[in-house]
Amino acid sequence: MKFLCDSMFGKLSKMLRMAGYDALYAQSYERFGMVETAVAENRVIITGDDRIILVPRLLFFTREKDPLTQLKITREKFNLTAENAFTRCIFCNTVLEKTAKDSVSGIVPEQVYALFFSFTRCPKCGRIFWHGTHWEKMKIKLKEAGF
Ligand SMILES: [Zn+2]
Repeated sequence: MKFLCDSMFGKLSKMLRMAGYDALYAQSYERFGMVETAVAENRVIITGDDRIILVPRLLFFTREKDPLTQLKITREKFNLTAENAFTRCIFCNTVLEKTAKDSVSGIVPEQVYALFFSFTRCPKCGRIFWHGTHWEKMKIKLKEAGF
């Protein structure tokens, strides 16, 4: 299941990535381009704009404003799981790669390097991730959304 979140759903797109789903954020898309992309890449457009006309299979319309509730209803609608949670960069949607601890020496804060053994890196934007407090918070959010 792949998604294309329109400009009203920026936070949702990040949370879907957190859960491991391929979710584009359409901030810079023209409406026309958005529909074309959804069809070409078999993505569900999540939108609050009821003027978008698209096959129902590729459209999820909601006026829900709260991002966590958006995540919850999206999970329910598409039977999403957290099977691949934390495998995707929440900033740029790229699949993360495992990286050796040695390779992040001097890049991550010293305390982090001392405390953690497992790191992943985004091959596109270069960000390094580990299972720290931020990760704990994200896990709680996923739980709250029913994952
Ligand atoms: Zn990235």
